[in-house]
Amino acid sequence: MQIEVRNLTKQFGQFSAVENVNFEIQEGKLIGLLGPSGGGKTTILRMLAGLETPTCGDILFQGSKVNHLPPQERGIGFVFQNYALFKHMTVFDNIAFGLTVQKKSKREIHNRVLELIELIGLQGLHDRYPHQLSGGQRQRVAFARALAPSPQLLLLDEPFAAIDAKVRKELRTWLREMISRVGVTSIFVTHDQEEAVEVADEIMIINKGRLEQKGTPWQVYKEPQTPFVAGFLGESNLLSDTAQLVGFESVLQKRLAKTRVLIRPESIEVGREHEISNLAAATKGIVKSVQFRGTLWQVEVEVGEHRLIAHRSLEKETLLTGEKVAVLIHSLHLFQNDESLFLE
Ligand code: ATP
Repeated sequence: MQIEVRNLTKQFGQFSAVENVNFEIQEGKLIGLLGPSGGGKTTILRMLAGLETPTCGDILFQGSKVNHLPPQERGIGFVFQNYALFKHMTVFDNIAFGLTVQKKSKREIHNRVLELIELIGLQGLHDRYPHQLSGGQRQRVAFARALAPSPQLLLLDEPFAAIDAKVRKELRTWLREMISRVGVTSIFVTHDQEEAVEVADEIMIINKGRLEQKGTPWQVYKEPQTPFVAGFLGESNLLSDTAQLVGFESVLQKRLAKTRVLIRPESIEVGREHEISNLAAATKGIVKSVQFRGTLWQVEVEVGEHRLIAHRSLEKETLLTGEKVAVLIHSLHLFQNDESLFLE
C-alpha cells in the first residue's frame, strides 16, 4: 500500500509531539523511523494506525484519506516490542486470532496458520505456549500473527528491543527477508541506528517532532541535511570555529559565521609520515587514544585545538598514544545556520 502524510501534527495540550511532518512511502518498502527518545516516532506510528487522532494534517492510503477510519478498518498489522502474545493461547491460536475475529472458516484458518508457521520456520511448535518459546521465537509468532489477516501495512514498534544482542541481529536479517518475501509495506520504529541502517530500504530521522531527513541509509549518511542528522547517524567529527583547519583554510575563511563542519572518521587519513598518500597537504597531530573496533582502529588525534576521531585500517601498524602523526583530511561537509551547504 502506498502511504502519504501531509502536514501531520499532533499536540498534547501546548506540546507539539509531531509537527508538520510530510512524507510519502512507496508500496512494498520497509521504512525505519529513527531518532532519539521522545522525538515523536511512536506518535507518528499511532496516528498511522488510527490509535491517535492528528491535531491537523492528513493521512492517505492509496491516495484516499483515512483520518477518520477506525484502526480495525485500516488494514494494518502490528508488532510490539513486548511480543504481546496471548499467554493462555498456543502458537496456533495466537496466529489464528485475527482470522477468528474476522470469522473466517475453520479450514481457511487452518491453512493460513500452517502456511505462516512454515514461513516463520516454527514447524512442529504450533501447540506450544508463549512461555515455552525463546524470545526470538515469540517475536516470530508475533510477526506471523500480525501478518495472518494479510494487512496492507505492517507497523512494528521497537520489535527487537526486548531481545538479546545476538538473536536480535539474526532476527533483523530474518525480518528483512520475510518482509520482502511477503511484499507488505512496513514501518518500524527504532532508536538503534545500526538496526535502521541494516534493515530499512529508507530511513526517516525524527527529532523533536520533526522529520529531519528521509532517504536510503547511504544517502542520509553521505549527505546529511542538518548537523543533527550528521551527528546522529554514524560517527562524526562536528566542529565549529574551523578557520584553521589545514588544507581547507581557503574554503573555510570565505564562510560567514555559524559555519559547522562535519568530517567523517573514514575521511581522515592518520598515520606515520611515510604512510600518508599526500604528505604536502597533511597537517600534524598527536595520537590521544587508539581503540580496536572489530573491523578497524579508531584513533583519536589532536590537531591544533581540535580532537578528531579517525579510522585506520587494521592492516596497518598500531599507532601509539602520544605519537606524533600526519593527518590528512580528504573531504568535509559544511553546514551554515544548521543547513547543509556542500561537500568539499
Ligand atoms: P521513544 O523512543 O522513547 O518511544 P518516541 O520518539 O517514540 O520516543 P513518542 O512516544 O512519540 O516519542 O513521544 C513524543 C513526545 O510526546 C514525548 O515527549 C512524549 O512524552 C509525548 N507524548 C506522547 N504521548 C503523549 C500523551 N498521550 N500525552 C502527553 N504527551 C505525550
